[in-house]
Amino acid sequence: MLGLMQDWPLLSYKIIDHAAIHHGTRKVISRSVEGPIHTTTYADIRARSLKVAKRLDQEGIRLGDRVATLAWNTWRHLEAWYGILGIGAVYHTVNPRLFPDQIAWIVNHAEDRIMITDLTFVPILEKIASKLATIERYVILTDGAHMPQTSLKNAIAYEDWIGSVDGDFEWRFFDENTAAGMCYTSGTTGNPKGVLYSHRSNVLHSLVASAPDMLGISSRDVVLPVVPMFHANGWSLALTTPMMGATMVMPGAKLDGASIYELLNDFKVTVTAAVPTVWLMLLQFLESSGSKLPYLKKVVIGGSACPRAMTQKFQDNYGVEVMHAWGMTEMSPLGTVCTLKPDYADLSGEARLDIQQKQGHAPFGVEMKITDDHGREVPWDGKTFGRLKVRGPSVARAYFKEAESAIDKDGFFDTGDVATMDPHGYMQITDRSKDVIKSGGEWISSIDLENLAVGHPKVAEAAVIGVPHPKWDERPLLVVVLKKEQTATKDEILAFMQGKIAKWWMPDDVVFVDEIPHTATGKIQKMTLRDQFKGYILPTAEAAE
Ligand code: ADP
Repeated sequence: MLGLMQDWPLLSYKIIDHAAIHHGTRKVISRSVEGPIHTTTYADIRARSLKVAKRLDQEGIRLGDRVATLAWNTWRHLEAWYGILGIGAVYHTVNPRLFPDQIAWIVNHAEDRIMITDLTFVPILEKIASKLATIERYVILTDGAHMPQTSLKNAIAYEDWIGSVDGDFEWRFFDENTAAGMCYTSGTTGNPKGVLYSHRSNVLHSLVASAPDMLGISSRDVVLPVVPMFHANGWSLALTTPMMGATMVMPGAKLDGASIYELLNDFKVTVTAAVPTVWLMLLQFLESSGSKLPYLKKVVIGGSACPRAMTQKFQDNYGVEVMHAWGMTEMSPLGTVCTLKPDYADLSGEARLDIQQKQGHAPFGVEMKITDDHGREVPWDGKTFGRLKVRGPSVARAYFKEAESAIDKDGFFDTGDVATMDPHGYMQITDRSKDVIKSGGEWISSIDLENLAVGHPKVAEAAVIGVPHPKWDERPLLVVVLKKEQTATKDEILAFMQGKIAKWWMPDDVVFVDEIPHTATGKIQKMTLRDQFKGYILPTAEAAE
């Protein structure tokens, strides 16, 4: 027997309808790419996204067609998203930090038909335009007055483009499983892979993400998504924030400490989210200027591990609660948030920080398990680590244009992360499965060693890779970038680490370099590093032979 409730498909554009009707006067404030601060409301965003939809429809964009956006977080980008969603086309957010050739590869692979972009990226696109065979038109997110001279095909200023139609349009109606958005993983190994969100997965994920133990966003909040809309579905904030009716502040192209501080302060932001590098810049600015954060309540930090010192500074010096979060493009992206369950809520000082170093616990809709190499589950004791696998309605089951399924027979997706789970369900990443060092059949966490090494006052950055060893299979090699004008010896670094980790975890050697390679999203490129040290003979390897 079926239930007798309404069949109300979970279509993502209903989010902006809700925001416009119930929170219509709530503001969306942006730092425009042209410079000045721009203010609009959810009601106006919706009205203009209807124009985007009508214009796309006139251009012949149909259900399932991909429309690329290569753009910063601004009100215009938000309007474009909802306009695209409203006709059942697919927003494809492209990361401008990728190499131009990678951008071309991704756009071709997605077969994007229209490219909506910011002034900033016109020169990059002009260089690769001859390779972008499927793009029929470039829409530049600006007005006629700021429109540059460009060779881009059928280029038009966004304001002229939507200005030529009235907003008399009705959203299209289709199945909730229709593709809504697309985002490629950065492809640190091999070519990037396209993750294809559905309307249903977006809506469910936004509902889950806003829950009190997750991001806990309400209509009384002022949310500043520093994390770009092109990074991992924009951490879903372009959907979650309007869904909850919170005020939205968009940073545009300026993500430096002073610019972010200005927005936090001027618009009384209460919740913000970004990767650790952004917060490093903000903390440096706060320290050098002596500024405070009187309005900010919560900062969401994820994308890579949040350093302990960062959590401590935000909380102790500025009274801002840190919410360490973990996720990935394939998960829409939220997987866990480290808010404190009753079991940990009373902790303070170092003990509280110990828990906050963990990536947190899963919301409803994210099932997790950790397994050994044979797929057997390992215990949730906070010590044993295993491959982290996830299942849920907002987790990918396959990649775009890849015939092979991305999940195992039980429906679990292998995240590629290695993690522990504690008895209260708090997950802690210990490594990426391809980076973990397999020494004598046991696993050594490269991340733990890196975190320890950067604690040395002379070390700016550290990376640990496994190097072949005749006896142990692999042993850790520590690669170090020293802080400016510092010198140090290998023994000095090792002496600092001694006693803080198991003896057999100690790196077999330390090398000093000027630079460690990074991906477009700021992660250490271990593969390049492994290539760089291919054939490296550890002193212990020589001794063993
Ligand atoms: P990109 O490589 O484009 O940034 P993702 O955002 O999808 O792609 O990267 C997801 C990966 O980032 C995760 O699988 C994990 O390895 C890492 N990650 C994300 N959040 C954290 C975190 N809080 N701590 C440690 N690693 C994290």
